[in-house]
Amino acid sequence: EQFKDVCKTLENHYRDMQDMEFTVEHGKLYMLQTRNGKRTAQAALKIACDLVDEGMRSEQEAVAMIDPRNLDTLLHPQFDAAALKAATPAGRGLGASPGAACGKIVFTAEDAESWHARGEKVVLVRLETSPEDITGMKAAQGILTVRGGMTSHAAVVARGMGTCCVSGCGDIAMDEENKRFTLAGKEYHEGDYLSIDGTTGNIYDGQIPTVDATIAGEFGRVMAWADKYRKLKVRTNADTPADARKARELGAEGIGLCRTEHMFFDEDRIAAFREMICSDTAEEREAALEKILPYQQGDFEKLYEALEGYPVTIRFLDPPLHEFVPTEEADIEKLAAAQGKTVEEIKNIIAGLHEFNPMMGHRGCRLAVTYPEIARMQTKAVIRAAINVQKEHPGWKVKPEIMIPLICDVKELKYVKKIVVETADAEIKASGIELYYEVGTMIEIPRAALTADEIAAEADFFCFGTNDLTQMTFGFSRDDAGKFLTAYYDSKILENDPFAKLDQNGVGKLMDMSIKLGKPVNPKMHVGICGEHGGDPSSVEFCHKIGLDYVSCSPFRVPIARLAAAQAAINQK
Ligand code: PEP
Ligand code: MG
Repeated sequence: EQFKDVCKTLENHYRDMQDMEFTVEHGKLYMLQTRNGKRTAQAALKIACDLVDEGMRSEQEAVAMIDPRNLDTLLHPQFDAAALKAATPAGRGLGASPGAACGKIVFTAEDAESWHARGEKVVLVRLETSPEDITGMKAAQGILTVRGGMTSHAAVVARGMGTCCVSGCGDIAMDEENKRFTLAGKEYHEGDYLSIDGTTGNIYDGQIPTVDATIAGEFGRVMAWADKYRKLKVRTNADTPADARKARELGAEGIGLCRTEHMFFDEDRIAAFREMICSDTAEEREAALEKILPYQQGDFEKLYEALEGYPVTIRFLDPPLHEFVPTEEADIEKLAAAQGKTVEEIKNIIAGLHEFNPMMGHRGCRLAVTYPEIARMQTKAVIRAAINVQKEHPGWKVKPEIMIPLICDVKELKYVKKIVVETADAEIKASGIELYYEVGTMIEIPRAALTADEIAAEADFFCFGTNDLTQMTFGFSRDDAGKFLTAYYDSKILENDPFAKLDQNGVGKLMDMSIKLGKPVNPKMHVGICGEHGGDPSSVEFCHKIGLDYVSCSPFRVPIARLAAAQAAINQK
């Protein structure tokens, strides 16, 4: 009884669950120590709800008690706790996309697909991934790469899919050709079991069973409180209707970024896309674009449907075209046949697309400047889809937001916007219905931030592409920085990966400056962020402070962003 009284006194005093140490000696109770008890994510939610129900904490305090990063574990499969305790990691990479995965090792996307089709669970191990690996990545339980940082292709795509990913494990000595690798002195072959943890980055030899995460009832209660107190809206980065629906389930209030290039990964689509890239003349390109248009329009219709009238930001084609060209001889031959060209001619076109620094090369709005027909086709697809869905759902307010990437000068935006507006207005006029659309831009090049007042005059919205903005502000390649960042942490030059946690002093200053320059020129303009930082709690807090309207992140990070946004608002008060 005496012990229970002391417990109550301590819990009432600290207004939190206590981890207490005590002893009883010669019939006397001694309290040795007390501290706030450590807790799992699920327990944290339960404790927060109990404290509110007991009148000990306000809703705001309860929301502020929970570490948003821990919610990740509630949304993905985890290793069986007892089995994990008995396991020792064989190596470690970056925890690039949360969750746990266990399966047989495969080395190619094709093997991942075919093994998966015959009912095997696989872990795809690659040096790095590229757009051609997408279907294999989808089929895998988890993805492990030797190279690449937190915003490498593997990391970004895996997070979008909600698939576990460990990236940048440089300790792996890879022999892709012979389908084997060595880690911590052991040679692994195709078919060997491997277990990886995308939260910690740990890699385990053999099988560790996984369990599906369950969302306890308290999760919904805490999220409802968070929504009550946050000011920032939370959107999602989604390229497929399935991702969009998942994000809506998790509370997203719109799409902040649809990367349209991700819609071309399926085999028949990539064929049409390659024909477009490997065209010699505008006529050839337009003929290929005609094939692509119905695919894009169909996808956009499904996105608008999934979003039920919430805004959808569609970003025009962004990556360098050479990322899509075929590398396999058979694919090159197929493309040559489809184009009525020789294999030699196709190879010459591909060679002509080679760039020494593609990230700063022919990509983003530069593609629309050189090939306006691409922007024209994408506008038609966006607007025709919106018209169709609007007609079908008169009660919704379908609102496409067309986003032009990689702008560095207002004249670029003006140039592309003219193509968009002329095409869109003609489509809307012909449809006979009213449709409101916006044309905005990403701010992801330092020069765009520095001239944000000029750009704001032409933009309905700004959206910070902090992946590229970080890359270009630091001058660190987002795909290669993982290789040297560890040395930077060891030398205490950097504390965190600036691609994961926003560098508020530098990149953040450019964002703040953009808003301060842009808003007075165009007060109606809305401002968001869609780089990976949009799902990082400390970055979300910064976005709240500098007055963004929304953050946009991968579907599985939406609850984290909602909670972080609420905490930012509560802490500010
Ligand atoms: C960005 O640069 O932050 C962005 C969202 O675009 P992407 O990652 O597609 O370059
Ligand atoms: Mg970008």
